[in-house]
Amino acid sequence: MMRRVGNSCALWRAPARRAYATKISDAWYDVVISGGGIVGATVACLLTSQRRLRVALFEPNAHAFLERAGKEDAKHEYGEQKDRNVSLRTSTITVESEAVLQSCGVWQRIPELRRPKVKRMVVWDHTGYSSAALHAASVLNFDASAASRTQQPEYMASVVENETLLSALYSQLRDVQNENSTSAPSCLDIFAEPVRDVMYNPRGDEWPVIQRTPQPLTARVLVATDGRNSNIRKLFSMPWFSFSYEQRAVVANVIVSGDEQKQDKPGASSISSTAFQNFLPTGPIALLPIRHLASGETVMNVVWSTSDTEAMLLQDCTETEFIEELRDALTGPHALDFKSLAAGSQRATFPLVFGHAPQYVNGRVALLGDAAHAVHPLAGQGVNLGLADAASMANRLMCAAECGRDLGGDGGAVLLNYQKDRLLKNVAMIMSIDAVGRIYKTPGPVAAAIRAMGTGIISSAPGIKDRIMRYAMGA
Ligand SMILES: Cc1cc2nc3c(=O)[nH]c(=O)nc-3n(C[C@H](O)[C@H](O)[C@H](O)COP(=O)(O)OP(=O)(O)OC[C@H]3O[C@@H](n4cnc5c(N)ncnc54)[C@H](O)[C@@H]3O)c2cc1C
Repeated sequence: MMRRVGNSCALWRAPARRAYATKISDAWYDVVISGGGIVGATVACLLTSQRRLRVALFEPNAHAFLERAGKEDAKHEYGEQKDRNVSLRTSTITVESEAVLQSCGVWQRIPELRRPKVKRMVVWDHTGYSSAALHAASVLNFDASAASRTQQPEYMASVVENETLLSALYSQLRDVQNENSTSAPSCLDIFAEPVRDVMYNPRGDEWPVIQRTPQPLTARVLVATDGRNSNIRKLFSMPWFSFSYEQRAVVANVIVSGDEQKQDKPGASSISSTAFQNFLPTGPIALLPIRHLASGETVMNVVWSTSDTEAMLLQDCTETEFIEELRDALTGPHALDFKSLAAGSQRATFPLVFGHAPQYVNGRVALLGDAAHAVHPLAGQGVNLGLADAASMANRLMCAAECGRDLGGDGGAVLLNYQKDRLLKNVAMIMSIDAVGRIYKTPGPVAAAIRAMGTGIISSAPGIKDRIMRYAMGA
């Protein structure tokens, strides 16, 4: 099983127009992807978009994902229901990430109703409440339509339920599978099981062999998108630097009525296109608009990062108490009129950790998404970093295949180029996110005044503000 495939690279020098790289056996794949969450499924969609590479995707929840796939498609009546329950996990998708999803036909599958645009973002600091002047100085108001950008969309990001995005991704993958059902070997195989064990020595010449019964699979490249507790990362002892924030994110969907009170200037975006973030002493609380209801009210997704103890209280208290806590947490000039939890909304908590793998590549194995980096949700960048990884990896692999190169060979050159594309950019972003969290957490009036000074400078310098906004948008 571990025999080197004689002259495998010769296959790659064969005409690049062939259907798939590997025609020797059904059990050989160009790329095996372990983990079909948002990032892994996107890699699969990108790699199969040209039907040139042979891809296997392992995802234990694949049956459920495929079952739901397409129910929210643009043409499906379910997708058009305005007041259907909103699921708890949502992601802000930057304009750059939107382009990645568009390029493989996934974004178009999400009805517009299911991806509301964020045109304005208001960020402020709890310490500002004590003084009107301090508050005014500590509010950062980002408005995409006012930014000095040409040919850029007039929004910062879209908000999408993770379930909706996964539904669109698996709907695309199912179409690829159906299209290929008559050809053998197929261009995409989905295995509804985890990758448990892999036989591979990254220093040797062999290819990774994914152990499974009845038949193991051989991969030129093994892509790990199996989340922050990545089994693949552990199997190959790839280093992982991590610590716990000793915080949890409490997530809920709430109904907010009318427009933002007091602060709404004429012409400003309404709350249905505004994201809010207030930095409390215990951590940030973010509100993302996720659905504009027929009643005129807006469903907002709350991500409330706080201490473990407070998170448990917020999870277990009654709905009325939760709404009261939310009102208390968001008092101040940006008070919103919270009505209730959204229909059918549960509350859930997620432990928050920082994690980064200083090396993304080991031989023919590469880490992407949360398997390579886990960040605090305060900037809504986790999925976006993962989608940028996916785009880089797919681009590198498809270019290599086009040139007839061995995808994981040449001393790992192709995969190392992916690492070169992404490592420093990811480090810069995750360190900035961590730094923002720490700056806002520092207690005391001096720290508050320094923060107010910093935000004052940013607000009065459109160039800096514009640059921050573009960075957050992934541009
Ligand atoms: C409260 C909260 C809010 C967030 N909000 C945002 C936001 O607004 N914007 C944003 O960009 N990011 C956000 N994030 C971060 C984002 O959710 C993650 O970065 C993102 O889900 C990571 O995607 P992934 O596909 O890399 O990993 P995961 O979503 O963890 O997917 C990993 C997949 O691998 C599968 N798997 C696990 N083990 C195996 C195995 N052995 N074999 C095969 N498959 C396996 C799992 O079943 C899973 O489907 C938020 C995170 C939290 C906690």
